[in-house]
Amino acid sequence: MYIKDTIAAISTAVGEGGIGIVRISGPEAIEIADKIFKSYQQPDKKLNKVDTYTAHYGHIIKPETEQVLDEVISLVMKAPKTYTKEDVVEINCHGGMVPLQKILELVLDVGARLADPGEFTKRAFLNGRIDLSQAEAIMDVINSQTEAGLEAAMDQLEGGLSDQINNISQKILRLLANLEASIDFPEDEIEDFNSEELEKRVIEILSEIEDLLATSKQGRIVKEGIQTAIIGKPNVGKSSLLNALLRENRAIVTEVPGTTRDVIEEVINIDGIPLKIIDTAGIREAENEVEKIGIEKSEKFLKRADLVLLVLDAHCGITDEDRKIIGLAEGKDTIIVVNKTDLEPKLAVEELKEELDMEAVVETSATEGIGIKELEELISDMVFGGQIKSTDQTLITNLRHKEAIEDAYEDMNRVKETVEQDLPADFVTIDLKSALEKLGKITGDTVDEDIIDRIFADFCLGK
Ligand code: GDP
Ligand code: ZN
Repeated sequence: MYIKDTIAAISTAVGEGGIGIVRISGPEAIEIADKIFKSYQQPDKKLNKVDTYTAHYGHIIKPETEQVLDEVISLVMKAPKTYTKEDVVEINCHGGMVPLQKILELVLDVGARLADPGEFTKRAFLNGRIDLSQAEAIMDVINSQTEAGLEAAMDQLEGGLSDQINNISQKILRLLANLEASIDFPEDEIEDFNSEELEKRVIEILSEIEDLLATSKQGRIVKEGIQTAIIGKPNVGKSSLLNALLRENRAIVTEVPGTTRDVIEEVINIDGIPLKIIDTAGIREAENEVEKIGIEKSEKFLKRADLVLLVLDAHCGITDEDRKIIGLAEGKDTIIVVNKTDLEPKLAVEELKEELDMEAVVETSATEGIGIKELEELISDMVFGGQIKSTDQTLITNLRHKEAIEDAYEDMNRVKETVEQDLPADFVTIDLKSALEKLGKITGDTVDEDIIDRIFADFCLGK
């Protein structure tokens, strides 16, 4: 068990608010609060005598000068059923920065230490209330950009991922136990445990890991959104199409840091999935230097795009320039948007589908708002790639988790090969132990301390 002092921080957002909270956690949390909390109605009231999860009206008083800092409600929560599993007092005061700062200073003066970023949550982890993946989920809940992202984060916070990882780890552990028994007592006929049985169980574990890994694409999309490029030669209607999509689906999102300012990035929400759309310049041969930069950029965006909406002009038909652009998008998930269908068409859609060997073709009129719903459905189908959109499925949304699972998968694959070659059991146990260790990194059982520190350093103060 690790020994800890009592920590404190302002736990509400910086800036003005109706109320603000100074949170104190640790063995002396209640004692510290008692030094500065006074109830005028019940002068004898001591917070260390009250029941857990009770709220107490009173004032925060500087002990030496009796100066009143603020009128507050103190919420007393006793270990172990608290956020940190330690004694916690939350002082709810008026929400301005001055009362909050003054109360925090006083709390620090009378014995608490200023908490590091994420230290409350780190204690919840170190004290065993939540595992590491759940702690990480708390950040994801706070930072979630869409409803689907929030749902995935909540599932992880509630232990959805932990359960799956623990379940796989249990199976590996059982295999290890059986194997070690057969190494220790080679003469004994251990029932139901031969290399055939071993192989069967290894394959079972491999397929469970595969299923979990298969969710990582959707998980990333749900968490980060899908980078989408609208491309096409000039005047086909790219900007008009973007506007048509924005009219009904503009997402409420916070500014994503690091987005390039010299291109317009808009976010639309389709089935809860944020589509980040870059309004790229028309891709065509550059005639001058300035334009060239634009095109190079477009090609770069195209490279980064998860999804491409390639716009053609139905009225002017398909040209060499269009074909060149279609070539650029090769290998990408692409939807062909045949636009301007309100005008006299020169482009036969069925022939186009055949020529390009593509099903994902939709006819629109961006200016008339025709075909936009169909386009959205096509986008949704393509993004989810036939996968079930079920939200009760646990998704891998975190790259750290994905990499650990991939490593465990490699170990298990090696186990399978070793078993197939009938090599000695020792070889198998080494890889099984390694796979267990990799999975333990997700829940935090086997993770290095510096990785833990790095994870919590990204948290906000007071969380
Ligand atoms: P971009 O250069 O590809 O971004 O194309 P714009 O969106 O700027 O459109 C070029 C011109 O085509 C504008 O005059 C639009 O009003 C017109 N336009 C765009 N979409 C349609 C459409 O579906 N039907 C018709 N008739 N005109 C369109
Ligand atoms: Zn445009």
